[in-house]
Amino acid sequence: MQLLDGKIAAQSVKDRLTEEVKKLVSRGLRPPHLAAILVGQNGASETYVASKIRNCAETGFRSSLVRMDENVSEEALKAEIARLNQDDSVDGILVQLPLPKQIREDNIIQLIDPDKDVDGFHPMNTGRMVQGLPSYIPATPYGIMMLLEHYKIDTQGKHAVVIGRSNIVGRPISVLLNQDGPRGNCTVTVCHSRTRNLAEICRQADIIVAALGKPRFLKADMVKEGSVVIDVGITRVPDTTKKTGFAIQGDVDFAEVSSKCSYITPVPGGVGLMTIAALLQNTYHAYSRRNNT
Ligand code: NAP
Repeated sequence: MQLLDGKIAAQSVKDRLTEEVKKLVSRGLRPPHLAAILVGQNGASETYVASKIRNCAETGFRSSLVRMDENVSEEALKAEIARLNQDDSVDGILVQLPLPKQIREDNIIQLIDPDKDVDGFHPMNTGRMVQGLPSYIPATPYGIMMLLEHYKIDTQGKHAVVIGRSNIVGRPISVLLNQDGPRGNCTVTVCHSRTRNLAEICRQADIIVAALGKPRFLKADMVKEGSVVIDVGITRVPDTTKKTGFAIQGDVDFAEVSSKCSYITPVPGGVGLMTIAALLQNTYHAYSRRNNT
Protein backbone atom coordinates (compact mmCIF):
# COMPACT_ATOMS: atom_id res chain seq x y z
CA MET A 1 0.00 0.00 0.00
CA GLN A 2 1.24 3.46 -0.87
CA LEU A 3 -0.08 6.68 0.63
CA LEU A 4 -1.45 9.31 -1.71
CA ASP A 5 0.13 12.03 0.34
CA GLY A 6 -1.74 15.30 0.02
CA LYS A 7 1.02 17.12 1.85
CA ILE A 8 3.60 16.28 -0.81
CA ALA A 9 1.30 16.78 -3.81
CA ALA A 10 -0.20 20.04 -2.49
CA GLN A 11 3.27 21.39 -1.72
CA SER A 12 4.39 20.79 -5.28
CA VAL A 13 1.39 22.78 -6.58
CA LYS A 14 2.08 25.54 -4.07
CA ASP A 15 5.81 25.64 -4.92
CA ARG A 16 4.97 26.11 -8.60
CA LEU A 17 2.46 28.86 -7.82
CA THR A 18 4.90 30.60 -5.48
CA GLU A 19 7.44 30.77 -8.31
CA GLU A 20 4.80 32.16 -10.70
CA VAL A 21 3.79 34.85 -8.21
CA LYS A 22 7.44 35.82 -7.67
CA LYS A 23 7.79 36.30 -11.42
CA LEU A 24 4.67 38.49 -11.53
CA VAL A 25 5.84 40.66 -8.67
CA SER A 26 9.32 41.01 -10.17
CA ARG A 27 7.60 42.38 -13.30
CA GLY A 28 5.90 45.02 -11.14
CA LEU A 29 2.51 43.31 -11.25
CA ARG A 30 0.25 42.70 -8.26
CA PRO A 31 -0.20 39.15 -6.90
CA PRO A 32 -3.48 37.20 -7.29
CA HIS A 33 -6.13 38.16 -4.74
CA LEU A 34 -8.66 35.81 -3.12
CA ALA A 35 -11.56 37.29 -1.16
CA ALA A 36 -13.40 35.05 1.31
CA ILE A 37 -16.74 35.70 2.95
CA LEU A 38 -17.35 34.01 6.28
CA VAL A 39 -20.83 34.22 7.79
CA GLY A 40 -21.26 33.42 11.49
CA GLN A 41 -18.86 31.55 13.73
CA ASN A 42 -19.04 27.88 12.76
CA GLY A 43 -15.89 26.28 14.21
CA ALA A 44 -15.11 24.10 11.19
CA SER A 45 -15.70 26.98 8.75
CA GLU A 46 -13.41 29.22 10.83
CA THR A 47 -10.68 26.56 10.57
CA TYR A 48 -11.12 26.09 6.80
CA VAL A 49 -11.07 29.82 6.06
CA ALA A 50 -8.05 30.40 8.31
CA SER A 51 -6.23 27.64 6.47
CA LYS A 52 -7.10 29.09 3.05
CA ILE A 53 -5.84 32.51 4.14
CA ARG A 54 -2.63 31.04 5.58
CA ASN A 55 -1.99 29.16 2.34
CA CYS A 56 -2.54 32.35 0.32
CA ALA A 57 0.12 34.07 2.42
CA GLU A 58 2.54 31.14 2.04
CA THR A 59 2.16 31.28 -1.73
CA GLY A 60 2.48 35.05 -2.02
CA PHE A 61 -1.21 35.60 -2.85
CA ARG A 62 -3.15 38.48 -1.37
CA SER A 63 -6.26 37.52 0.56
CA SER A 64 -9.02 39.39 2.29
CA LEU A 65 -11.65 38.16 4.68
CA VAL A 66 -15.12 39.63 4.97
CA ARG A 67 -16.82 38.55 8.19
CA MET A 68 -20.59 38.81 8.45
CA ASP A 69 -22.88 38.25 11.38
CA GLU A 70 -24.74 34.93 11.80
CA ASN A 71 -28.04 36.85 11.49
CA VAL A 72 -27.07 38.72 8.34
CA SER A 73 -29.86 39.10 5.77
CA GLU A 74 -29.65 37.55 2.33
CA GLU A 75 -29.83 41.07 0.87
CA ALA A 76 -26.78 42.24 2.84
CA LEU A 77 -24.79 39.21 1.75
CA LYS A 78 -25.81 39.76 -1.86
CA ALA A 79 -24.68 43.39 -1.63
CA GLU A 80 -21.27 42.26 -0.39
CA ILE A 81 -20.91 39.84 -3.30
CA ALA A 82 -21.91 42.56 -5.77
CA ARG A 83 -19.20 44.78 -4.28
CA LEU A 84 -16.54 42.06 -4.65
CA ASN A 85 -17.73 41.26 -8.19
CA GLN A 86 -17.09 44.89 -9.14
CA ASP A 87 -13.78 45.23 -7.29
CA ASP A 88 -11.11 44.97 -9.99
CA SER A 89 -8.44 44.10 -7.46
CA VAL A 90 -10.27 40.86 -6.53
CA ASP A 91 -9.64 37.81 -8.74
CA GLY A 92 -11.45 35.07 -6.84
CA ILE A 93 -14.43 35.08 -4.48
CA LEU A 94 -15.42 32.29 -2.15
CA VAL A 95 -18.36 32.13 0.20
CA GLN A 96 -17.61 29.60 2.91
CA LEU A 97 -20.44 27.07 3.21
CA PRO A 98 -22.66 26.18 4.99
CA LEU A 99 -24.60 29.43 5.32
CA PRO A 100 -27.15 30.11 8.08
CA LYS A 101 -30.71 28.90 7.51
CA GLN A 102 -32.19 32.29 6.55
CA ILE A 103 -29.99 32.37 3.43
CA ARG A 104 -30.51 30.22 0.35
CA GLU A 105 -27.11 28.99 -0.76
CA ASP A 106 -28.10 28.60 -4.41
CA ASN A 107 -29.26 32.24 -4.54
CA ILE A 108 -25.87 33.34 -3.28
CA ILE A 109 -23.74 31.09 -5.48
CA GLN A 110 -25.55 32.25 -8.60
CA LEU A 111 -24.65 35.86 -7.81
CA ILE A 112 -20.89 35.33 -7.86
CA ASP A 113 -19.35 36.49 -11.13
CA PRO A 114 -18.62 33.16 -12.93
CA ASP A 115 -15.19 34.56 -13.88
CA LYS A 116 -14.37 34.98 -10.17
CA ASP A 117 -16.08 31.76 -9.04
CA VAL A 118 -12.92 29.98 -7.89
CA ASP A 119 -14.95 27.45 -5.89
CA GLY A 120 -16.51 26.41 -9.22
CA PHE A 121 -20.04 26.16 -7.78
CA HIS A 122 -21.80 28.57 -10.18
CA PRO A 123 -24.17 26.70 -12.55
CA MET A 124 -22.35 28.22 -15.53
CA ASN A 125 -19.08 26.64 -14.41
CA THR A 126 -20.83 23.36 -13.59
CA GLY A 127 -22.39 23.30 -17.07
CA ARG A 128 -19.10 24.09 -18.75
CA MET A 129 -17.33 21.39 -16.74
CA VAL A 130 -19.95 18.79 -17.71
CA GLN A 131 -19.46 19.68 -21.37
CA GLY A 132 -15.68 19.46 -21.02
CA LEU A 133 -15.22 23.19 -21.69
CA PRO A 134 -12.73 25.39 -19.82
CA SER A 135 -14.24 26.19 -16.42
CA TYR A 136 -13.48 26.54 -12.74
CA ILE A 137 -13.68 23.02 -11.36
CA PRO A 138 -14.85 22.71 -7.75
CA ALA A 139 -11.78 22.67 -5.56
CA THR A 140 -12.19 19.25 -3.92
CA PRO A 141 -12.75 17.23 -7.13
CA TYR A 142 -10.05 19.27 -8.85
CA GLY A 143 -7.71 18.51 -5.95
CA ILE A 144 -8.46 14.79 -6.25
CA MET A 145 -7.65 14.91 -9.97
CA MET A 146 -4.37 16.69 -9.18
CA LEU A 147 -3.53 14.02 -6.63
CA LEU A 148 -4.20 11.23 -9.15
CA GLU A 149 -2.02 13.12 -11.63
CA HIS A 150 0.80 13.64 -9.11
CA TYR A 151 0.96 9.90 -8.39
CA LYS A 152 0.28 8.97 -12.04
CA ILE A 153 -2.60 6.69 -11.05
CA ASP A 154 -3.84 4.78 -14.07
CA THR A 155 -7.59 5.41 -14.44
CA GLN A 156 -8.10 4.36 -18.07
CA GLY A 157 -11.02 1.94 -18.39
CA LYS A 158 -11.16 1.44 -14.63
CA HIS A 159 -14.38 1.08 -12.67
CA ALA A 160 -14.69 4.03 -10.27
CA VAL A 161 -17.33 3.99 -7.55
CA VAL A 162 -18.20 7.37 -6.04
CA ILE A 163 -20.14 7.30 -2.76
CA GLY A 164 -22.05 10.59 -2.52
CA ARG A 165 -23.72 12.76 -5.14
CA SER A 166 -23.39 16.30 -3.74
CA ASN A 167 -22.83 19.23 -6.07
CA ILE A 168 -19.51 20.03 -4.46
CA VAL A 169 -17.88 16.59 -4.39
CA GLY A 170 -19.67 13.44 -5.54
CA ARG A 171 -21.33 14.64 -8.72
CA PRO A 172 -18.40 16.65 -10.12
CA ILE A 173 -15.77 13.99 -9.37
CA SER A 174 -17.97 11.43 -11.14
CA VAL A 175 -18.00 13.69 -14.22
CA LEU A 176 -14.24 14.27 -14.15
CA LEU A 177 -13.34 10.60 -13.73
CA ASN A 178 -15.64 9.78 -16.63
CA GLN A 179 -14.29 12.45 -19.01
CA ASP A 180 -11.92 11.63 -21.82
CA GLY A 181 -8.50 12.56 -20.47
CA PRO A 182 -5.27 11.36 -18.88
CA ARG A 183 -6.84 10.75 -15.40
CA GLY A 184 -10.32 10.07 -16.76
CA ASN A 185 -11.96 7.45 -18.95
CA CYS A 186 -13.32 5.57 -15.98
CA THR A 187 -16.63 3.76 -16.00
CA VAL A 188 -18.30 5.47 -13.06
CA THR A 189 -20.99 4.29 -10.66
CA VAL A 190 -22.42 7.02 -8.43
CA CYS A 191 -23.94 5.80 -5.15
CA HIS A 192 -26.11 7.62 -2.61
CA SER A 193 -28.14 6.97 0.50
CA ARG A 194 -30.73 4.92 -1.36
CA THR A 195 -28.30 2.77 -3.34
CA ARG A 196 -28.95 -0.93 -2.89
CA ASN A 197 -26.12 -3.43 -2.38
CA LEU A 198 -23.54 -0.69 -1.84
CA ALA A 199 -20.93 -3.08 -0.41
CA GLU A 200 -21.23 -5.34 -3.43
CA ILE A 201 -20.85 -2.40 -5.82
CA CYS A 202 -17.80 -1.15 -3.92
CA ARG A 203 -16.19 -4.59 -4.12
CA GLN A 204 -16.29 -4.27 -7.92
CA ALA A 205 -14.43 -0.95 -7.86
CA ASP A 206 -10.87 -0.34 -9.00
CA ILE A 207 -11.14 3.17 -7.57
CA ILE A 208 -13.41 4.25 -4.70
CA VAL A 209 -14.11 7.88 -3.81
CA ALA A 210 -15.82 8.00 -0.41
CA ALA A 211 -17.61 11.35 0.02
CA LEU A 212 -20.60 10.75 2.26
CA GLY A 213 -19.64 12.29 5.60
CA LYS A 214 -20.02 9.13 7.72
CA PRO A 215 -16.86 8.41 9.75
CA ARG A 216 -15.16 5.06 9.06
CA PHE A 217 -18.05 3.96 6.82
CA LEU A 218 -15.94 2.07 4.27
CA LYS A 219 -14.73 -1.21 5.76
CA ALA A 220 -12.22 -3.78 4.52
CA ASP A 221 -14.96 -6.20 3.39
CA MET A 222 -16.25 -3.49 1.01
CA VAL A 223 -13.05 -3.15 -1.03
CA LYS A 224 -11.23 -5.51 -3.32
CA GLU A 225 -7.51 -6.22 -3.13
CA GLY A 226 -5.40 -3.63 -4.92
CA SER A 227 -8.04 -0.89 -5.21
CA VAL A 228 -7.30 2.84 -5.02
CA VAL A 229 -9.21 4.51 -2.18
CA ILE A 230 -9.79 8.25 -1.98
CA ASP A 231 -11.22 9.43 1.34
CA VAL A 232 -12.94 12.82 1.10
CA GLY A 233 -14.76 12.69 4.44
CA ILE A 234 -13.99 15.15 7.18
CA THR A 235 -16.04 14.73 10.34
CA ARG A 236 -15.24 16.11 13.78
CA VAL A 237 -15.78 13.42 16.40
CA PRO A 238 -15.46 14.03 20.16
CA ASP A 239 -12.02 13.01 21.47
CA THR A 240 -11.05 13.88 25.03
CA THR A 241 -7.39 13.04 24.35
CA LYS A 242 -7.12 16.04 22.01
CA LYS A 243 -6.63 19.61 23.16
CA THR A 244 -9.39 20.72 20.82
CA GLY A 245 -11.78 18.09 22.23
CA PHE A 246 -12.31 16.50 18.82
CA ALA A 247 -10.53 14.40 16.21
CA ILE A 248 -10.95 14.51 12.44
CA GLN A 249 -12.16 11.28 10.88
CA GLY A 250 -12.55 10.29 7.26
CA ASP A 251 -15.21 8.13 5.64
CA VAL A 252 -12.80 5.21 5.35
CA ASP A 253 -11.77 2.88 8.15
CA PHE A 254 -8.09 3.46 7.36
CA ALA A 255 -6.74 0.85 9.79
CA GLU A 256 -8.81 -1.90 8.13
CA VAL A 257 -8.81 -0.79 4.51
CA SER A 258 -5.20 0.34 4.03
CA SER A 259 -3.76 -3.19 4.11
CA LYS A 260 -6.01 -4.21 1.20
CA CYS A 261 -5.55 -1.37 -1.25
CA SER A 262 -2.74 -0.29 -3.57
CA TYR A 263 -3.10 3.43 -2.81
CA ILE A 264 -5.04 5.31 -0.15
CA THR A 265 -5.36 8.91 1.04
CA PRO A 266 -4.91 9.64 4.74
CA VAL A 267 -7.27 11.88 6.75
CA PRO A 268 -6.03 14.38 7.65
CA GLY A 269 -3.24 14.97 5.14
CA GLY A 270 -4.98 13.87 1.96
CA VAL A 271 -7.83 15.42 -0.01
CA GLY A 272 -8.26 18.39 2.37
CA LEU A 273 -4.80 19.75 1.54
CA MET A 274 -5.39 19.16 -2.17
CA THR A 275 -8.64 21.14 -1.95
CA ILE A 276 -6.71 24.19 -0.83
CA ALA A 277 -4.04 23.71 -3.50
CA ALA A 278 -6.81 23.51 -6.12
CA LEU A 279 -8.43 26.67 -4.80
CA LEU A 280 -5.11 28.50 -5.14
CA GLN A 281 -4.69 27.10 -8.65
CA ASN A 282 -8.19 28.34 -9.60
CA THR A 283 -7.43 31.77 -8.15
CA TYR A 284 -4.18 31.96 -10.08
CA HIS A 285 -6.05 30.96 -13.21
CA ALA A 286 -8.70 33.64 -12.58
CA TYR A 287 -5.94 36.22 -12.17
CA SER A 288 -4.21 35.15 -15.40
CA ARG A 289 -7.44 35.27 -17.38
CA ARG A 290 -8.46 38.65 -16.02
CA ASN A 291 -5.04 40.22 -16.50
CA ASN A 292 -3.98 38.44 -19.71
CA THR A 293 -0.73 37.27 -18.13
P1 NAP B 1 -23.35 15.98 1.55
O1 NAP B 1 -23.77 17.15 0.75
O2 NAP B 1 -23.96 15.73 2.88
O3 NAP B 1 -23.57 14.68 0.65
C1 NAP B 1 -23.39 13.41 1.17
C2 NAP B 1 -23.74 12.41 0.09
O4 NAP B 1 -23.51 11.12 0.63
C3 NAP B 1 -25.20 12.46 -0.36
O5 NAP B 1 -25.28 12.32 -1.75
C4 NAP B 1 -25.84 11.28 0.36
O6 NAP B 1 -26.88 10.65 -0.36
C5 NAP B 1 -24.66 10.32 0.43
N1 NAP B 1 -24.82 9.40 1.55
C6 NAP B 1 -25.11 9.69 2.85
N2 NAP B 1 -25.18 8.58 3.57
C7 NAP B 1 -24.95 7.55 2.73
C8 NAP B 1 -24.91 6.14 2.88
N3 NAP B 1 -25.11 5.57 4.06
N4 NAP B 1 -24.64 5.39 1.80
C9 NAP B 1 -24.42 5.95 0.59
N5 NAP B 1 -24.45 7.29 0.39
C10 NAP B 1 -24.72 8.07 1.44
O7 NAP B 1 -21.79 15.97 1.81
P2 NAP B 1 -20.58 16.63 0.95
O8 NAP B 1 -20.62 18.09 1.08
O9 NAP B 1 -20.49 15.99 -0.38
O10 NAP B 1 -19.35 16.11 1.85
C11 NAP B 1 -19.10 14.75 2.08
C12 NAP B 1 -17.96 14.62 3.06
O11 NAP B 1 -16.81 15.21 2.50
C13 NAP B 1 -18.17 15.34 4.40
O12 NAP B 1 -17.52 14.63 5.42
C14 NAP B 1 -17.48 16.67 4.19
O13 NAP B 1 -17.05 17.27 5.39
C15 NAP B 1 -16.31 16.22 3.37
N6 NAP B 1 -15.71 17.26 2.52
C16 NAP B 1 -14.37 17.30 2.52
C17 NAP B 1 -13.72 18.21 1.73
C18 NAP B 1 -12.23 18.22 1.72
O14 NAP B 1 -11.63 19.21 1.35
N7 NAP B 1 -11.59 17.10 2.09
C19 NAP B 1 -14.44 19.10 0.95
C20 NAP B 1 -15.83 19.01 0.94
C21 NAP B 1 -16.46 18.08 1.74
P3 NAP B 1 -28.27 11.40 -0.71
O15 NAP B 1 -27.96 12.32 -1.86
O16 NAP B 1 -29.18 10.29 -1.08
O17 NAP B 1 -28.67 12.14 0.53
